[in-house]
Amino acid sequence: MKIGGIFEELENRKLLVREFGEMALEILKLLPKSEKEAISDKDLSIKLNVKTNHVNNALELMNMHKIVGFVKEVDSKGWISYRWYLRPERLLEWIENEKTKIYKEYEKRLEFGEELYFCNICGISNGVYNFEDSELYKFKCPHCQNNLEILTFDDIEVYKSKKTKK
Ligand SMILES: [Zn+2]
Repeated sequence: MKIGGIFEELENRKLLVREFGEMALEILKLLPKSEKEAISDKDLSIKLNVKTNHVNNALELMNMHKIVGFVKEVDSKGWISYRWYLRPERLLEWIENEKTKIYKEYEKRLEFGEELYFCNICGISNGVYNFEDSELYKFKCPHCQNNLEILTFDDIEVYKSKKTKK
């Protein structure tokens, strides 16, 4: 499975960083996609030039969502080490689930009559703005300065129908 498309979408990149931390994308891109090629946390940290425990924190979070898998190894001296790999199908599933949850929340807010604004470049998964905030931002996206647009049920439908590229 090709997963490059996942990282091409700004919306997905932001979701992943928000949930798994600043290093999430780097780690996910470095992880091999099969158990056989699993890589140790130490090797990952050397490649990323960061401390192993930083890499481990992110990996453990991702493991909770089953986005990554690991192989546990015990050497002759009884030292335990872990090697990690990516589970691309699960990554894709996680992103889709996350978006579904977020879209539902927006629909509820619209049903309650809230006026919401969004940036079509950054995407709606990473935040919509209520009227007060939008006014404060002069109706420009605080991230990219694109004009904010009013969010409708139809817009949400469009986002729903956009399936993540593999
Ligand atoms: Zn934007």
